Amino acid sequence: MPITANDPKRKTWLEIPEDTDFPIQNIPFGVFLTRDDVITIGTRIGDYAIDLGALHQLGYFEGIPLTDDIFLQDTLNDFISDGKKTWRLVRNRIAEIFDEKNTKLKDHKDHRNTVLFTLDEIEMQLPVQVGDYTDFYSSKEHATNVGTMFRDPDNALLPNWLHIPVGYHGRSSSIIPSGIPVHRPQGQTMPAGATEPVFGPSKLVDFELEMAFITTDANHLGEPIPVDEAEEYIFGMVLFNDWSARDIQKWEYVPLGPFLAKNFASSISPWIVTMDALEPFRIKSPEPEKELLPYLKFSGKKSFDIHLEVSIQPEDKEETVVSKSNFKHMYWNMSQQLAHHTINGCPVNSGDMMGSGTISGPTPDTYGSMLELSWRGEKPIKLKDGSERKFIQDNDTVIMRGYCKGKDRRIGFGEVSTKLLPVFQPKKK
Ligand code: CA
Repeated sequence: MPITANDPKRKTWLEIPEDTDFPIQNIPFGVFLTRDDVITIGTRIGDYAIDLGALHQLGYFEGIPLTDDIFLQDTLNDFISDGKKTWRLVRNRIAEIFDEKNTKLKDHKDHRNTVLFTLDEIEMQLPVQVGDYTDFYSSKEHATNVGTMFRDPDNALLPNWLHIPVGYHGRSSSIIPSGIPVHRPQGQTMPAGATEPVFGPSKLVDFELEMAFITTDANHLGEPIPVDEAEEYIFGMVLFNDWSARDIQKWEYVPLGPFLAKNFASSISPWIVTMDALEPFRIKSPEPEKELLPYLKFSGKKSFDIHLEVSIQPEDKEETVVSKSNFKHMYWNMSQQLAHHTINGCPVNSGDMMGSGTISGPTPDTYGSMLELSWRGEKPIKLKDGSERKFIQDNDTVIMRGYCKGKDRRIGFGEVSTKLLPVFQPKKK
C-alpha cells in the first residue's frame, strides 16, 4: 500500500511555520491531555495538536477498520497492535483531511474547533505504556570511548562486541515524557583511593544521547523474528535521554551490568515519528568489520540519517549546544537488534521500547555523553555563560533535538527537555 502521506508536494490548509519539525508529511502519534482535561490520542501538524479521538467520532476515518474507542485511550498500545497497514491508512487519511485542497474540515468551524488545539492548551503524556524496555550498546565509537576510559585503550572493545548487538534489560517504570524533572540520584560509590564505599548524591550525573524504537506485538514465546522482517514490527521512534550516574555505575556494574546508575530516569520526546515518515531518509549502515552470523545478516538500507544535538541550559541562562551527532553512526541497526533480541524466542509486545545506546560519532564534538565530551572530567566543556561543565549540575536542563533533512522536506522529532533537580528531600512532618 503506497504511503500517500509522504507526498513531498502536499501542502496543508493549516498555518504552520516554514521550518517546523512537523510538516504535513510527518504526522507523528502522541497522547495528550486537552484543555477540557480529557486524555486523547493525537497527531501534530506545525504547532497544532489534533485530537484523533474527536476526528474519529465525527466520522473522518470512515472506511478504515478501527474500533470506536481506538483513539479514546490513555496510550497508543492498542492502535500500535492494529499493525502497519492500519497505521498507514490512518496517516494517509490524516494527510488528506489537512490537504489544502480538501475543504471538508477546513470549512466546518465547529468540527475544527473540536479537533484542533494549540500547543499551550495541551499537556503531552507518555505515548505508550512501556511493558518492557531494553537498552542496546550499539555505537562503536561510544563503546570504544568507554572501553578506553574504563578498561584498556588497546582492547577497548570486548571480544563479543563486533559479533553481538550487546544490550541489557532496563526498567520501564522510570521512562518519562519530556518536561518532567528528575532528581539527582543518591547511591553507593567507591571514591578513588578509598577501600570502603560511601553513600551520597551522585557527583557524576550524565545524559546519554539515544533514540528508541517502539514495537508492535511481534512474536510468540519461542519464535524468533527474522532480520529482514523486523521492520514490519517497528512502529516508530523517539528521542531518548538515558540518564546515567557514572560514579554509581562504575562501582555497581560488575558482574551483571548497570542497575541503579541507569534506572532512575529515561526521558523521551512525546511524539512518536513513524517508520513510514522516516522512509525517505534511509541510509546504509556501516560495513560490518567481522563476518556476521547468518541471523544478523541483512539486505538493503536499514539505517536512517537523523541529525541529533544536545544542549545544556543552566537555570535562567541561554542554552549551549554541546554535541552534534547522527543516528547513522550506529554500527548495529534496529533490524539486527530486534532479530538478536528474539533469536532465543523472547517475545516482544506492543509498546515495548528499545534504546539504541549512546550515539557517539567519530569526532569529539559528536560524542553522545558528558563522560566522553569531557573525557571523564579531564576536559571541561565551556558554556555560553562562561561556566564549565564536566557533568550535569543541579538545575541544568538537558535538551535533545533530532530531525531529518532532505532537499524537499524536514521531518523532526521536536525535543526532549529535562531539568535535573537537586537530591530529593522528604517533606518534613
Ligand atoms: Ca543507555
